[in-house]
Amino acid sequence: MIVWSIGRASLTVKMENCIVCGKELTALDIGAHKKFINRGSREYMCKTCLSEHLKVPEELLDQKIEHFRRQGCTLFSKNDLKVLDK
Ligand SMILES: [Zn+2]
Repeated sequence: MIVWSIGRASLTVKMENCIVCGKELTALDIGAHKKFINRGSREYMCKTCLSEHLKVPEELLDQKIEHFRRQGCTLFSKNDLKVLDK
């Protein structure tokens, strides 16, 4: 488990795997799950399984995520993604 602080917000991140296919999740997958399924979720689906679950094309999810990110949605903040890329 990795814990770090961004400004005043403290984030806790651990390796998560998709509950459907077991794929390792990215911050985007988790953000998308929280946004489209349930913000309080503790278990997540990857973007592929999420799109199947929601019956929408994965590209549409990508577009929505990009849309939310441009609005400054904290679930998709660039800071999170940068840290996870390491
Ligand atoms: Zn999956």
